[in-house]
Amino acid sequence: MVKRFLVSFATVLLLSVDGWGCAAHEPVPVGSTFASLEPELDAYVDAMAVRLARATGRHDVAASPDGAIPVYFLDGMTSVRPDTGEVVEDCGNTLWRSQDGVFVSVEIRIDPTPAPNCPPIQVTLLHEGMHGLAPDAAHADRGVFAEAAQGSRVDMPALERVCSSFECLTMTVE
Ligand SMILES: [Zn+2]
Repeated sequence: MVKRFLVSFATVLLLSVDGWGCAAHEPVPVGSTFASLEPELDAYVDAMAVRLARATGRHDVAASPDGAIPVYFLDGMTSVRPDTGEVVEDCGNTLWRSQDGVFVSVEIRIDPTPAPNCPPIQVTLLHEGMHGLAPDAAHADRGVFAEAAQGSRVDMPALERVCSSFECLTMTVE
């Protein structure tokens, strides 16, 4: 396996699940809340949600124990580059599914022992949090939402992509 830095959006499409038990008549989760499942990630998830709430002007972007998108550690994640077929190690990824034609983020996984050239976990988490809000947004060509994240701040290339599918009230860079 080629060890190469990549923050990738998982191309795993989970099967559409309509009508989870009693939840069938509940509204579709808006996917703007995050739930840390790891004590070591609690502060990072809180900070990520605060930053994305400020950047988008959406005060419903928040961390909460019952948040719609769980965030947890998973080691050894890989993905295959569609262009080259190369297997690369993921620093983190976001799973989503399609529900009635709408992309819904399901969960975010962060490598607890990332490859040496992965960015800090806070940066990986910020990148994946953007996927969480906007699961159908394409990567930016530069900045923190590039396929291989550059920088650590919420930048305009990222907001342009995120806000193309997530309804931002503001676009406030850091
Ligand atoms: Zn990505």
